Amino acid sequence: MFHINAFCVALPISDNSSNLKTTKVRVVDYESKRITPLPSTDHSPEPMSTSKSKQEKKADSVFLGEFKITAYCPCEECSEGYGNNTSTGITAKMGRTIAVDPDVISYGTTVYIEGIGEFVAEDCGGKVKGKHIDIYFESHRETVEFGVKYRRVERR
Ligand SMILES: [Zn+2]
Repeated sequence: MFHINAFCVALPISDNSSNLKTTKVRVVDYESKRITPLPSTDHSPEPMSTSKSKQEKKADSVFLGEFKITAYCPCEECSEGYGNNTSTGITAKMGRTIAVDPDVISYGTTVYIEGIGEFVAEDCGGKVKGKHIDIYFESHRETVEFGVKYRRVERR
């Protein structure tokens, strides 16, 4: 009946958490076009360390592309019977939870949707494929009001 399960293999969050911990967030003030970097903690100058092959890229944020943004809620129609239970086992929370295609955005990833805000990839859906993000809302009315948008998305 619920063939959606075939698409929703919940991976352990811990698989990706180590990457997230090393991700730095930089505050970008678009209004004045100033960039305020965080204090450098593990980037101390070491002239003798040039031979190290450590190429750990610490990008502040990575542009993922322009995504189709839709909304869903715990209702039967939106959640296909799952309510507020996500595919990762986390209870969906408005203002935080989004459903993604895990092949495009890994579970546990914090993303910034331009003009909307920061969310965490915690769920998936049978209709959420490719560059598509479904934002969790508490009520169906809000999902209808949200409609369909297209926004630039960054990984944080
Ligand atoms: Zn709904």
